[in-house]
Amino acid sequence: MATATMPRRPTKARKYQTKILIGGQWRDSVSGKTFKTIDPSTEEVITEIAMGDAADIDLAVKAARKTFDDRKGVWRKMDARDRGRLMHRLADLIEEHIDELAELETLDNGKPIAESRNVDLPLVIDCFRYYAGWADKIQGQVVPIRGNYLCYTKKEPVGVAGQIIPWNFPLLMAAWKWGPALAAGCVSVLKPASSTALTALRLGELAMEAGYPAGVVNVVPGRGSVAGDALAKHPGVDKIAFTGSTEVGYGLMKICSETLKRLTFELGGKSPNVIFADADLDTAVQGSMLGLFFNQGQCCCAGSRLFVEDKAHDEFVEKLSKKVESRKVGDPFDPDTEQGPQVDKNQYDTIMSYIEKGNKEGAKCVTGGERLGDKGFFIKPTIFDNVTDNMTIAREEIFGPVLSVLKFRDIDEVIDRGNANEYGLAAAVWTRDIGKAHAIADGMRAGTVWVNCYDVFDAAAPFGGFKKSGFGRELGEKGLDSYTEMKTVTISLA
Ligand code: NAP
Ligand code: MG
Repeated sequence: MATATMPRRPTKARKYQTKILIGGQWRDSVSGKTFKTIDPSTEEVITEIAMGDAADIDLAVKAARKTFDDRKGVWRKMDARDRGRLMHRLADLIEEHIDELAELETLDNGKPIAESRNVDLPLVIDCFRYYAGWADKIQGQVVPIRGNYLCYTKKEPVGVAGQIIPWNFPLLMAAWKWGPALAAGCVSVLKPASSTALTALRLGELAMEAGYPAGVVNVVPGRGSVAGDALAKHPGVDKIAFTGSTEVGYGLMKICSETLKRLTFELGGKSPNVIFADADLDTAVQGSMLGLFFNQGQCCCAGSRLFVEDKAHDEFVEKLSKKVESRKVGDPFDPDTEQGPQVDKNQYDTIMSYIEKGNKEGAKCVTGGERLGDKGFFIKPTIFDNVTDNMTIAREEIFGPVLSVLKFRDIDEVIDRGNANEYGLAAAVWTRDIGKAHAIADGMRAGTVWVNCYDVFDAAAPFGGFKKSGFGRELGEKGLDSYTEMKTVTISLA
């Protein structure tokens, strides 16, 4: 996949968009304050970004509100098909700037350039194109009610969407939020994660270039506990879409209950990945490795509880360890790199503390378990074997390159143990037995189940959580529901 034309680390002279986008204007924060964003592979400051707070959020929500509420304004009067064309134009611009955006994502987040360029960016473009196609297909029904009436439903945009996104897939999460919102005719105030705001700001520039009317998309970087909190509290916001930690989700739900905002949450996970002895083990090893180590283990759907049938356990762990040890960890701008640094010092420290707990509680570290190098937040890919269900590393989301291996004997046992966790985002099973595959797909309380594959994402396939992994679905037709309100119109024909 790596090619000679792969994007490179930008030079020091490179300029970035670092201001706040409100009502079509780029501005400094009201307070004049900025915050630093760093390159996690060198720990050097990339640039300083305007730090929005409640005052900036207020301006952004008012700008969004004004655009949305103006019934005679260009956004509300725009034909649905033209909304779709605007989205296609944005997708085309992203494609024209694909190398530059991939480079920026890798710089700010630390993910390998081969992944930014060949995984994240194509998914971003696909998401916008997929929802562009929906813009003129969001329609209601004629309802056969009793009496002499014509009754029909229509779907209308929910209004101003406050969208708070994480740092693990910065641009892709922006696309998952803007795609359905813009197709449905909503307007957005987007709050990117503090550690990775640069690509969302560049996306804002491209949206302006595509011709989005002022106030349709607004981007306000700033601290979650300040700017994110203000967005959730603002009475001018109709809906909050949040992707991030379950802990922040609890707080947001309380805050949003005061103004009865619509909510969609995509939170954490501790997904079971089940390997039966009859599986094609080499394929399962490769898939399970990616299922956990992809994106430095910073995936909400990471297959972090690897259940291996006892008969296959020793062979599987040996093969997996060899594979994992051969992973190329290092400079994310090297086109051959498979694992870069963790996103920031906080995440690095949290992961290292989980590794310490794994060791203390008696799991067996078969590979990794330590920092790599002395600069940048690099952690060696780590596998713990002999993990039991009650250990901290088997229960809590680590969000890093740390895999827990657990043994199981039969199918009912593994379904029960797989479900014995507060999360329910994803699950996977590897087997040649179609009966076992269906039993797992049926039995696991999870929003997505992968059979003989992992991390297969598509803009058309709904994604979201059971239990404490969240509610509502993103992507697919279902992803539009949370950005529309249904209106029922009844007309007397008497
Ligand atoms: P987080 O705190 O939940 O951050 C996610 C987003 O929410 C960021 O934009 C963040 O802003 C914002 N935020 C933080 N506190 C907020 C508040 N009180 N009100 C409103 N918005 C707020 O996640 P994190 O601290 O970066 O990561 C911690 C853990 O979250 C991870 O270890 C992982 O378990 C989970 N996580 C899950 C996902 C996922 O895809 N489901 C993604 C990332 C993290 P700031 O960036 O300014 O804090
Ligand atoms: Mg945070």
